[in-house]
Amino acid sequence: MSRDNTNKRNYLTSQRQAVLDVIREAGEHLTAQEIFDRVRAKMPRLAYGTVYNALRHLKESGLVRELKFGDAASRYDAKVERHDHVVCVRCGAMMDYEVSGIESLVKEAARRTKFTILDAHVEFKGVCPRCR
Ligand SMILES: [Zn+2]
Ligand SMILES: [Zn+2]
Repeated sequence: MSRDNTNKRNYLTSQRQAVLDVIREAGEHLTAQEIFDRVRAKMPRLAYGTVYNALRHLKESGLVRELKFGDAASRYDAKVERHDHVVCVRCGAMMDYEVSGIESLVKEAARRTKFTILDAHVEFKGVCPRCR
């Protein structure tokens, strides 16, 4: 084994890989608890803290995104490219949605505020078909 650490950052332990797989396969935006339940079905001895640490590592490595919604539990997204979301205010279900023309909105915001805009996320709140 090589002594240099260059690959270390991208190295995923089997637990981290399992957590990432669950998020990628879900096709929805899971909470840490939901991720834990699913990974645990494959790795019954897994501790919650391990999943929590794996999520932190995956987030820092840019492999998943953490979505925060006020006081509600964070959700995790395997789609790391910029995109927007619609969120159900009753059950928390969340879907990907892409706002068109975001580039011009970002430019306009930068021009008017003199900020350098690093990221933009549009969140639509509503009631999903299941809850309606
Ligand atoms: Zn709903
Ligand atoms: Zn998403």
